[in-house]
Amino acid sequence: MNPTRTTELDEHEGGDAVAAARDARRAHPDAEFRAGGIDTTSRQVLNRASGPFVDLADIADLRGLHPPRDGQPAWVGATTTLAELHSDPHIRTSYPGLAAAVAEIATPEVRSRATIGGNLLQRNRCPYYRSPDFDCHQTGADQCPAHEAGAASSLLVNLGPCVAPHPSTIALALLAHDATVLVDPEGERSVPELLGDGTDPTHDHQLAAHEILTGVRLPAPPAQECAAYHRLTRRSTAEWPLVETLVRLGIPAPADQEGTRPRAPATIRWARVAVGGVARVPLRLRSVEDALLDRPASAETVQAAAGLAGTTDTPCQTLVRASVLEALERAMGEHPHS
Ligand SMILES: Cc1cc2nc3c(=O)[nH]c(=O)nc-3n(C[C@H](O)[C@H](O)[C@H](O)COP(=O)(O)OP(=O)(O)OC[C@H]3O[C@@H](n4cnc5c(N)ncnc54)[C@H](O)[C@@H]3O)c2cc1C
Ligand code: SF4
Repeated sequence: MNPTRTTELDEHEGGDAVAAARDARRAHPDAEFRAGGIDTTSRQVLNRASGPFVDLADIADLRGLHPPRDGQPAWVGATTTLAELHSDPHIRTSYPGLAAAVAEIATPEVRSRATIGGNLLQRNRCPYYRSPDFDCHQTGADQCPAHEAGAASSLLVNLGPCVAPHPSTIALALLAHDATVLVDPEGERSVPELLGDGTDPTHDHQLAAHEILTGVRLPAPPAQECAAYHRLTRRSTAEWPLVETLVRLGIPAPADQEGTRPRAPATIRWARVAVGGVARVPLRLRSVEDALLDRPASAETVQAAAGLAGTTDTPCQTLVRASVLEALERAMGEHPHS
């Protein structure tokens, strides 16, 4: 799909350095791009990445942030760090759910190096993939030791032969924001297009080896949004979550209640509910979203909606429902009339 690009975005998508990086990657079939180097370095230690590496971190055209203006989308360069993303006042104000999610990724040290592009394209956390003692679909073999060990039971939905949950918190957040990614040499893709449908056991994303993710486009923020992020972890910090939820709710103030305490709950006019850590790709929970639409913004509504998260009777479903309920309650708590 060819995007209609604004002049402002075009300034950030071309550039000789990006083409040079692409050519360098093409010239070395075994090469791998490297941005902040957090994931590539951790895999290098395990012989799951050998280089050579084509460094992207210093390419000026890939870095920076343009806030949304006059109803236009925001642009975030692929090598913008998570710390830069989180400290930007426009991101905090316009995309509070994204800002809340970024704040909980890893540690301040990791966030100061990790990039938004690298986070989206990081490889999965499966212990079999991360161990040099095993081979699997992701390393060229036709087997999945994790599947054989029963790892599928920790998923909300089993989408295919690889059962490693997608590791990216940013992917979850961008899915919930209907964001797209911009790709060199050409193209704009949704998060589902970037990551695929979860049935490919050989890759964690669908970007071709020579393609460079140049940036992220976030739709102009809607008015009167309440958002929250919640994660369940084994320990309190510096760990990928067991389950994570991002909720965005559109709850306009009732017109007849302006300036007064509301006599009745406001109404939820739109909803985005996405979960991560429980499937090969982050998931939108459409049944939960539908159960919120045009319903009163009340405790009863969110409890009933959260109860619809997941259809499989597994321990994972219990965790997902708890996380969705917590995120919904936090989002409602952000509403000025709650
Ligand atoms: C203790 C700890 C806790 C963590 N917790 C979380 C968590 O809760 N949630 C979460 O999401 N992450 C978590 N992480 C992972 C961390 O956020 C990622 O490793 C980091 O964001 C990767 O970004 P990077 O820029 O360092 O990527 P790199 O390591 O440089 O690259 C990662 C991959 O992306 C490719 N790549 C990078 N940029 C581009 C580009 N522009 N175009 C094409 N390919 C590209 C590289 O080739 C490589 O395959 C955690 C990490 C640690 C150490
Ligand atoms: S195929 Fe996926 S789930 Fe199976 S061992 Fe490899 S990375 Fe892990």
